[in-house]
Amino acid sequence: DPAIDSAFVRRWLSLATSAIEHKSSWLTELDSAIGDADHGTNMQRGFAAASAAVEREPSNTPGEVLTHVGRQLISSVGGAAGPLYGTLLRRAGKALGDQPAVTPEELCVALRSGVDSVAQLGRSERGDKTMLDSLYPAVEAMEFALSSGSGLLAALAAARTAADEGAAATVPILARRGRASYLGERSIGHQDPGATSAALLIAAFAEAAEA
Ligand code: ADP
Ligand code: MG
Ligand code: MG
Repeated sequence: DPAIDSAFVRRWLSLATSAIEHKSSWLTELDSAIGDADHGTNMQRGFAAASAAVEREPSNTPGEVLTHVGRQLISSVGGAAGPLYGTLLRRAGKALGDQPAVTPEELCVALRSGVDSVAQLGRSERGDKTMLDSLYPAVEAMEFALSSGSGLLAALAAARTAADEGAAATVPILARRGRASYLGERSIGHQDPGATSAALLIAAFAEAAEA
């Protein structure tokens, strides 16, 4: 398994940025069904800005890179997802402290506290048809895998599968938070855009571990 250092987080950012770019029109299409058709462009703008900013600055710890990406998302993405993802990554980065490399368990604890901060900021919980519906299953799958003796690679692969399943499972849910909640019953039958982008971000972690 690779080290979880600043190079690992940079690899994640680069894989996440290209996944978001490739899936941008799909994310916007999902958001056009139950939102305002901007999720793909919001995410693309945010990750492009974050990638450019991180390339300019020599951040030497994984925590610093995550914090930096979080700050960029908050300042460059209008819309709900920017501050929510930004808060997640800033909190996770802060939790990693200034260590040059961290353990899989430390990464997992940091991601858990980041996801908890999304729930806090969004006043949302699992089952509301939001990004939390793929983020919580991902974190839990990672926790379970690590506590069963898996290493980083296997734990992130499990997180990726759980996030994909979580995103797909938002289809029959009635939205209780965000713009989709304005639709009430009409939000049923559509996959949540944020849960979908969250699954892409988790998949990028799994790919960063494979590289
Ligand atoms: P906006 O809705 O402002 O246009 P985006 O389209 O970029 O923002 O993001 C919408 C996504 O943000 C939703 O699909 C949902 O997953 C997520 N989201 C919205 N509100 C909340 C919330 N209160 N808690 C968690 N996630 C939320
Ligand atoms: Mg939107
Ligand atoms: Mg919007």
